[in-house]
Amino acid sequence: MPFSLPELPFDPEELAPWTSAETFSFHHGKHHAAYVDKLNAAIEGGELADKSLEEIIAATRGQDPGVFNNAAQAWNHEMFWQSLAAEAGDPGERLTEMLERDFGSVDEFKETFDAAALSLFGSGWCWLVQTADGQLEVRQYGNAETPGGSDDRGLLPLDVWEHSYYIDHRNNRGSFVAGFWSHVNWAEIEKRLA
Ligand code: FE
Repeated sequence: MPFSLPELPFDPEELAPWTSAETFSFHHGKHHAAYVDKLNAAIEGGELADKSLEEIIAATRGQDPGVFNNAAQAWNHEMFWQSLAAEAGDPGERLTEMLERDFGSVDEFKETFDAAALSLFGSGWCWLVQTADGQLEVRQYGNAETPGGSDDRGLLPLDVWEHSYYIDHRNNRGSFVAGFWSHVNWAEIEKRLA
């Protein structure tokens, strides 16, 4: 079965002005769709055709960038959309305790995440991950790199490719990163904990 483009799990009008429906029409409807289409074309009829996205990522990492980049970006974007909501709310009790344990406070976690998102050079992703030993860490990933298909569990991603913010924020990545916290779907992030 080829992969299909997942629907956005929210009304794209409801995340404006942080991210407009116009941005989603390109970011989801063109960029994400292209990753899915290119992945399907690359794996058609081969031994990866019946594997999951994470299995394909793990099998091609460092081996086959043409397949890896499209599989990783398909997974990264699906996780990103599922991490967003019209209204953010607050992290739940368990996640709050873990963020306090590993960063000092929820606010200090956000400061660490913001700094990583702002300092990532060029295209890529900032993630909160849970390592195999249960620690929470903020990581930078260049281009399509991803915690998907690795020992780290991806909890919360932010896409800092320019296609993510250029329509609404132009070159101001800082205003895009700052507005992110108003649209994090904390309930979904908490479900991803091991
Ligand atoms: Fe993107």
